[in-house]
This record gives sequence, structure tokens and C-alpha cells, in this order.
Amino acid sequence: MNSADVLKEIAAQTAACTKCQLQYSRKLAVPGEGPSNAKILFIGEGPGFHENEQGRPFVGPAGQYLEELLASINLRREQVYITNVVKCRPPGNRDPQTEELAACSDYLERQILAINPKVIVTLGRYSMARFLPNAKISEIHGQAVRVHGKLIVPMYHPAAALHQPSLRSTVETDFKKLPEWMTKAGTIPEIENEPVSPQSENHEQLSLF
Ligand code: URA
Ligand code: SF4
Repeated sequence: MNSADVLKEIAAQTAACTKCQLQYSRKLAVPGEGPSNAKILFIGEGPGFHENEQGRPFVGPAGQYLEELLASINLRREQVYITNVVKCRPPGNRDPQTEELAACSDYLERQILAINPKVIVTLGRYSMARFLPNAKISEIHGQAVRVHGKLIVPMYHPAAALHQPSLRSTVETDFKKLPEWMTKAGTIPEIENEPVSPQSENHEQLSLF
């Protein structure tokens, strides 16, 4: 199966998925969208109201802002892959729970393998925690870290920047660094004490930054 077929298969599977309780609050699953060979993969938290209605990621106000951020580095959303750590909307936009993250994890794992992006940008803490369980966003936002061979650039969630104007310039500055990380991607070494697995305990992590 080629990567486009894998992504299509994942979309079909999430639409019918019964692996966690978020199946009951979804109208449409939001598997993610973008080219199967995208160089950049954005991973947000979970679908909100608009995403749940349309079955597409980041189509509400946070999505509008994400598009502006992409435009600031001459990218359109059609050029990147955009998805979330959970594919179905948590009721009332609550945080995803541990069991839901675990249940949904395999879809994201397969998406990452299929797309094989040069850079993964995590948007928000649940997405960052998947790769860097003990990192603090205030300390590592905008920096590139190689974890299990993948280059991860953690960023604040665009919705956080919309609600907290003081974060806007931080997010905007972090975004402007992305093209440089793309160019340098091959030269950034693996972190020494890598996390054993996603969501694992690793108390060495912070000393690395
Ligand atoms: N916020 C997210 O984390 N993901 C979306 O798809 C939309 C808003
Ligand atoms: Fe399945 Fe993920 Fe939706 Fe849960 S959130 S029902 S695991 S697709």
C-alpha cells in the first residue's frame, strides 16, 4: 500500500472507530488532511465544534490563525499535513483523557510512518507530550529536537495565542524559524537521553535543553 492509500485507510477506520468513548461525541471523525508526502506535519490536540461538523482539522478560528502563520512563511495549508492527537471531538472541547490518547495513538503513529515528514510541529501540550513527555513548552517552544529519528518542533497552540495576546509574537517568531529548521533538519543530532516511548516517564528530559 502506498502512503496515500494508508492515509485513506486510516480515514475510513477513524470514521467507524469504536476504540474509545469519543465515538459517542463525534459527528464526523477528523482524521487529518494534506499531501501524503508533506514535508511538515502539524499535530494539534483534537477537533473542536467546526472540525466535528466538517470532518476537517483546523477550520475554525484557530485554523484561520494557523493559515495566517503558514502564510507568513509562504506556505498554504494544502502544502502541509494537519492532524490531531485524537481524531474525534471531546465533548465541550474538554482535554483528551489518557485512555482516549492511548486508544487513538496508533492512527497517528501510522500517519507519521506513511507521511515520513521532515519536521513534526506539535501544537499544544498533548501533542508535545507524545514526543517529549516531560518538556515544558515555555522552555522549548520554537526549538528543534530530534526524538526517535524525527525532528520535533514544539509550538504553542494557535488557540492559546488567540486567547492570550502576549503569546502571539512568540508564536509568530517561532513560526518564522521553521524554514531554517527545515534546512538544518539533517544536522540536528538525536537527543542523548531519548524518551523510552511516547507518554513514558523520563525525568532526565529537561536537563537536555
Ligand atoms: N484545535 C485543535 O487542536 N485541532 C483542531 O483541529 C482545531 C482546533
Ligand atoms: Fe477511535 Fe480515536 Fe475517535 Fe477514539 S478518538 S473513537 S480512538 S478515532
